[in-house]
Amino acid sequence: MKYQKIRGTADFLPEETNKWQYVESKIEYLLEKYSYQEIRLPVFEQFELFARGVGETSDIVSKEMYEFYDRGDRHLALRPEGTAGVVRAYVENKIYGPEHHKPVKYYYTGPMFRFERPQSGRMRQFHQIGVEVYGSNNPAVDVETMALAMDIFKSFGIKDLTLVVNSLGNTASRLAYREALIGFLTPHFEELSEDSKERLHKNPLRVLDSKDKKDQDIVKNAPSVLDYLDEDSKKHFEEVKDMLELLEISYEVDPNMVRGLDYYNDTIFEIMTNDPNFGANTTICAGGRYDQLVEEVGGPATPGFGFAIGLERLVMLLEGIHYDFPQRHQLDAFVVTIGDDVNHEALKLANALRKQGLIVEREFIGRKPGKQFKTADKLNAKMVFTLGTQELENRTVNMKLLSTGKEISLNLDDIYAEDFKEKYSEILRKLEGED
Ligand code: ATP
Ligand code: MG
Repeated sequence: MKYQKIRGTADFLPEETNKWQYVESKIEYLLEKYSYQEIRLPVFEQFELFARGVGETSDIVSKEMYEFYDRGDRHLALRPEGTAGVVRAYVENKIYGPEHHKPVKYYYTGPMFRFERPQSGRMRQFHQIGVEVYGSNNPAVDVETMALAMDIFKSFGIKDLTLVVNSLGNTASRLAYREALIGFLTPHFEELSEDSKERLHKNPLRVLDSKDKKDQDIVKNAPSVLDYLDEDSKKHFEEVKDMLELLEISYEVDPNMVRGLDYYNDTIFEIMTNDPNFGANTTICAGGRYDQLVEEVGGPATPGFGFAIGLERLVMLLEGIHYDFPQRHQLDAFVVTIGDDVNHEALKLANALRKQGLIVEREFIGRKPGKQFKTADKLNAKMVFTLGTQELENRTVNMKLLSTGKEISLNLDDIYAEDFKEKYSEILRKLEGED
């Protein structure tokens, strides 16, 4: 029997996790600056939560969900995105209560699951880092959150970023637009794809997002949602644009942009990159405002805003621009052992050095000293501590700084003493010094 990972999933070996840990921690540092807190949620939820939250007619729910019945006959799904779960947790844990500062700002990171055709940058288990803000419909929230997303990509030195924004308007504007869109599409009914025919009355906005070439040609001449915004929505969108200018964030308005999830209203946005090393017009971040979802999921009317970044695509983008990922750790010390007698002492020594704050590895499999030194080199160790039978007898150890080749014999009991930390810096300076 040969076991293989499931199609569309990936193993992350250390070379990869090094990059991911670095990327995640850099993003988390920025999230903290914007005063976000982390929330960790289950990867599976009631199927119905996603059907209601993401929308029955979305591709995600209608085609891509990993849904199943558990042994208790509960209809469940692996989460295809993060927002529905965060909204559920917000409602279930009564985060809307007065003891929570508003707006509430949460971020999450973790795996998402969609049954899609796997290809480069498209997995069945993929990862997102996302944010959600609850409790304010101030357009400044929209702008601060988009600024955060831009900051994240800029912090990695990604160039050629385009922020694309649009407004879907509030419920009243959307209803008016919906009618106009149905009116426009109905004469073309026979030419539409099967999906779009089905969506025409259920959710005509979806037709604008169709991947079908013929659909796309038809919707090119469709009326623009922006012409149907009422006064409130117009004002909201104008303020968003003004404040983007205030922060000197350049943007484009795409009046035909809709999003793959059904819950958005007013501001929606995508961040695209045209980085020549990555491929034209790739969406690397998407999000927007959703003021009805909390209520839809059973909470009090609460405005929301959020976005999600696909981490696979971000890491690929960074690889494409030859991003210089720093090594996570440099090994401070490698303990070379000569002979079986020193096994116990090597254990104690490595342990003591770690207590002093050093990053330490030791020999475990008793290879020839030359091999061990080569390993120390390969692991990029700063120093080698050599323990042999002779040293053990004298209660000493040899410490060698690999960069200068200088060495010194130390008393083991000095290393085990409380105050070794100070002495150690002195010794290091001596070994590093020129003379
Ligand atoms: P696409 O149009 O590429 O299918 P989407 O609109 O379905 O994207 P969202 O649901 O908005 O994507 O998710 C936000 C981000 O998550 C995307 O921009 C992308 O980077 C990432 N993403 C979405 N689906 C996948 C996937 N199957 N594999 C890897 N990353 C994904
Ligand atoms: Mg998709």
